[in-house]
Formats: sequence, structure tokens, C-alpha cells
Amino acid sequence: MLVFSESLRNKGKKISFVPTMGYFHEGHLSLMKEGRKRGDSLVVSIYVNPVQFGPGEDFVRYPRDFERDRKLAEDVGANLIFCPENEEMYPEHYQTFVDVEEVTRDLCGFSRPGHFRGVATVCAKLFHIVKPHVAIFGKKDFQQLVTIKRMVQDLNIVLEVVGMPTVRETDGLAMSSRNVYLKAHERESALSLSRSLVIAKGLYEDGERDAGKILGEIEKYIKRYPYTSIDYAKICDTTTLKDVEYLEGEAVLALAVKVGSTRLIDNYVFGEALDIYNVSVQESAISPSVR
Ligand code: AMP
Repeated sequence: MLVFSESLRNKGKKISFVPTMGYFHEGHLSLMKEGRKRGDSLVVSIYVNPVQFGPGEDFVRYPRDFERDRKLAEDVGANLIFCPENEEMYPEHYQTFVDVEEVTRDLCGFSRPGHFRGVATVCAKLFHIVKPHVAIFGKKDFQQLVTIKRMVQDLNIVLEVVGMPTVRETDGLAMSSRNVYLKAHERESALSLSRSLVIAKGLYEDGERDAGKILGEIEKYIKRYPYTSIDYAKICDTTTLKDVEYLEGEAVLALAVKVGSTRLIDNYVFGEALDIYNVSVQESAISPSVR
């Protein structure tokens, strides 16, 4: 890997990088396509990083299908697929971790202690191994993107970090490798997240700026779907990720909802476009079809 990167760098070529845990869907592929555009050579890593999973989380059963992934990545023009082994990444006596402090405290950082320490550590290591000029991440994992941007700035890593829009199923569900965990009867309830974003967008566009009121509506709405339990629903500043009470600067609605035993996340940055077309706000607010 190092030889590959060094020789490209020596030739003045630009390396773009997409770190992933594999089991590709269109969201991953959109990052790779962007990577192709932004660099001369695209590196994709596939690594299910044990350090970012907590005890009792889904590390062991996380879906994996390397052969399928390899074909998909090659089809969108990946030049190198990097799949390190645990022994390479965390050899015996390994003891160095990256802790990004404030932006990882709340939201998923609160629900999944140690998660972002694992994410920041593996990304720092991958950046050093792959030596990319640009790394592409999805905005679907908004807190992850903010954390990586913070780390890159704080640790003087010379790297451009790019965030890409969330790719969704036609019904609005944000694509995720974990969607395979959803049981057929839970699928409709999984739409409570993306539909909530549409509701929040509508309220915002109607002039609502009170974060508590928007969150109140959304919580009420999600609770009407069976099998759902809200982990968090928050409106935060997009840079600090601190809660905001009143929508003035750039703010994001961040949601984590358990549907059955599957924990799903989604988010909406107020004022941005939202590519969910086949749900009308009123309809979804008044009559979710599961009732
Ligand atoms: P993962 O394999 O889940 O760790 O994700 C690898 C990268 O793909 C991360 O930067 C994610 O934010 C991004 N990603 C995951 N789902 C989506 C999606 N639906 N749309 C766009 N990017 C995504």
C-alpha cells in the first residue's frame, strides 16, 4: 500500500480515498464516483474495525461480502482496494488511540461510548497508510464527518475531507449496510426517520425556528410507528454539535431510532435540499400507513 501511494505521489498524482466497512450499496458507490472525479487514483478500504464497536454491538454479525464489493468497486473505477487484517492494524502491544473530545460527547458518542475513539483512530491510521490527498465521507454519518474534519484540522493532517449527500432508497430510507437487519414487518417503521426529516423541513420552511417545538412534533410522529424507540432526536449546531434552542445559524436535525433491534440514524441540515420526493408532509404527518 505504502509503495503504491508513494510512487503515485512521486509522479505528482492525486490520490482520493474512500474508507468503508464494506457490504456496498449506492451510498458507498456515490462516494467512490466522487473520488474518481477528484483524484487520479482511487483507493477504497474495506475494514470492519473492531475498535469502533462496543461490547454487545454487531461486530461479529456485521454483513460482509468481499467478492461482491470488489466487483462493485472495480466497476466504478477503484484502482486499489485495501483490506487490512486486524493483526496489521492492531498488532500485539498496540496502545495508541485518537480521542476527539467535544464533538463526540453527545449524540452517537453518548449512546455508543468509545465508538468515535475507534473511528478516529482507524481513520488516522488509514490516512497515514494510504496517504490520500482527498478523503470522501458520507453526510449520513454526520457526527463522524464532523469528527474526522476536527481531527484532520487538530492533528495537522494534510488532507481535504469532503462530505457527500445521503443516498436513499426510493421510499426515502437512508441506505445503510445495516438495513439488511430490518425484518419485513419493521420496514415501514424504518421510514419514520426520513419522513420526520420531511416534516422538520416543512416546519422550518413555514417559519418555525423553535428547536423544542420541531423536536416535539417529530418525537410524537415517530412514536406513532410500531417497533420504534427513539435513542435521540436533537437539533445541533453543524460545527460544534452542541444543542441549539433556536434555529439561527446552520443547524442539523440528528436522529437515532431503534426499529426492532436495528439502530438507524439519519439527519437533515436545515435549509438544504432533501431528496425525498414520494412523501407529502401532510400525508405523512397525519396518516402513517402503519396505523
Ligand atoms: P460504512 O461502510 O457504513 O462505514 O460507510 C462508509 C462511508 O459511506 C461513510 O463515509 C458513510 O458515511 C458513507 N455512507 C454510508 N451510507 C451512506 C449513504 N446512504 N449515502 C451516502 N454515504 C453513505
